Amino acid sequence: MTIEVRWGSATHVGCVRSNNQDSILAGPVVFAVADGMGGHAAGDVASAIAVACMAALPSAPAGDTVLDAVRAANAEVIARGAPGSGREGMGTTLSALVLAERDGEESLLVVNVGDSRTYKLDADGLTQVTADHSLVAEMVRDGELTREQAAGHRARNVVTRALGIDREVKVDHWWVRPEAGQMYLMCSDGLTNEIPADEVERVLRSEPTPQAAVDVLIGQALDAGARDNVSAVAVVVDAVTVDASLVEEDTNRRAKAARTPVTEQGIIDAVPGSVVSEPAGPSAAPALVTGVPSPVDAAS
Ligand code: MG
Repeated sequence: MTIEVRWGSATHVGCVRSNNQDSILAGPVVFAVADGMGGHAAGDVASAIAVACMAALPSAPAGDTVLDAVRAANAEVIARGAPGSGREGMGTTLSALVLAERDGEESLLVVNVGDSRTYKLDADGLTQVTADHSLVAEMVRDGELTREQAAGHRARNVVTRALGIDREVKVDHWWVRPEAGQMYLMCSDGLTNEIPADEVERVLRSEPTPQAAVDVLIGQALDAGARDNVSAVAVVVDAVTVDASLVEEDTNRRAKAARTPVTEQGIIDAVPGSVVSEPAGPSAAPALVTGVPSPVDAAS
């Protein structure tokens, strides 16, 4: 199976912050957004480390290779934020779509740590593939807050999981079935805090290219006041083709699978919060505040 994609990307400091601590990565193997935290000249280092580790992945990496890259990023953020570095306590989110290999075929792997997001758009609509590791998202999942209350909550910047905090980082991951016509959007909370999901969906559907969609979304966030750094990477799946020479082998594999008890969960279609092997759950990690609260946050 071969997946053909097009993409677009942009990041902006926004209207309030003095520097941009988001980092982005756009293809050809990994499409990612990282939102750094930890004060001036630290959060940007952390997010840059995260995307650099992902950019070093080979083409069609195995799932374990991708997860190892995320863990390597975590270790490097911790090492470069060691006591005396001047970057103590820095951390970063990471939300990424990877053209990875599973059972010998190219497939899509989403990995996530923190409260940046990966969305999927298809005929069924816009769904959030990832689960936010944030205090308010956990309160919504526990039924303590409504989504509307969470959107305006003063603690909405508090994340419960990030790279750079614990030596053992728990990485959520999802295998997603690729289909022609799908779009994926990786974005930082600076986008989702300014633009409602239904408007994000409208823009993704109406713009002619992923770059045009990203540019419109960033522009809308700026028009809305962009109280945080704003980043977006959009990917369109143009074609998913099966190599004819592999059809026979593929049939054999399926026949064999029918005879053998299934011990491993198969490829899943992306349902929000669905997890292949590492369920997202409440984290024992200490809560962090992303970046410096903006004047708007402080006033609310
Ligand atoms: Mg942010």
